[in-house]
Amino acid sequence: MKALKLYGPNDLRLEEVPKPSISDEEILVRVKACAICGSDVRNVAAGGSGHGFSLPRVIGHEISGVIEEVGSKVVDYAPGVKVILGVVISCGRCIYCMKGHPNICIHKEALSYQYDGGFAEFVVVPSALVKQGGVMLIPEGISFEEASITEPFSCALNGQELSDVSMGDVVVVIGAGPVGNMHVMLAKARGACSVILSEVNPERLKMSKDIGLADHYTEPSELKNLVMQVTGGIGADVVIVAAPSGEAQVQALDIVAPRGRVNFFGGLPRGKSQIQIDSNTIHYREIFVHGTSDSTFLQMKKILNLMATKRIDAKKLITDIVPLDKYEEGFAKARSGSALKVLLVP
Ligand SMILES: [Zn+2]
Ligand SMILES: [Zn+2]
Repeated sequence: MKALKLYGPNDLRLEEVPKPSISDEEILVRVKACAICGSDVRNVAAGGSGHGFSLPRVIGHEISGVIEEVGSKVVDYAPGVKVILGVVISCGRCIYCMKGHPNICIHKEALSYQYDGGFAEFVVVPSALVKQGGVMLIPEGISFEEASITEPFSCALNGQELSDVSMGDVVVVIGAGPVGNMHVMLAKARGACSVILSEVNPERLKMSKDIGLADHYTEPSELKNLVMQVTGGIGADVVIVAAPSGEAQVQALDIVAPRGRVNFFGGLPRGKSQIQIDSNTIHYREIFVHGTSDSTFLQMKKILNLMATKRIDAKKLITDIVPLDKYEEGFAKARSGSALKVLLVP
């Protein structure tokens, strides 16, 4: 089969490798679509350094496909079933797992980090992922393309659950990349009355305007004025920073309402993660600042249900579907800032 392996910084190779065999407790999935994540782009550039990454590695973790084969001890699954795969494999025994937050498990592993991922014709689902419910059925009416972007959507949902985005809120999303647009969709689905999308790249801003999900669009220099105008000078209930920018994080604290919530959803580049803030802004205005990372399988199932019931339309965010053979084109698109979700299909 064909598999796209990362060997080092900017060293991706499409290779012909044997079709993988599975153990009694594993499942083999024939990949139908695997979306390129921002983390894939970063991992390719860095050669996968950090996060327990080992090389060479088949990367790609936003996977949909069809079960090809199940191990003899696997129950509840059968060949031919359409599925998506969870990404995070948690230990089940650390304090965060016990508290119900497997996404921040101390011992977490992940597809495309410690296990081969989905930029290939087939992917082996490790037994731990099978046992934890990480193989989820795709409901009727959802295409493989849409289903493949369930995982990033679920990360956005994890963020909005913690930020408690609620009916009637004014929500600001900073960053109009794919995940920023997912945040806009979810905030609307959760009943936000006004969603403001801010983006520094004019091309991306225009692309999001064309999709037309937010109520207001702006560039960062005009954001504060717009927020104050929309909220009568009070500030936003929730500000979600879905951009790798320290400046955007600082701005979030400046435009949030007293008692509002600020979510540092996107990580900052390594070496650039120090920011300077006036902490009195947080103190006197009783602002809640938090981050979120990854998601749970439950959140992935919720996203599938939201797609199935048309509460969110993932199709709007898929701008490019590229054959796996043309992965270079796909990664160039994903890096360019002129695409939203780019899918590789074997
Ligand atoms: Zn992802
Ligand atoms: Zn754990």
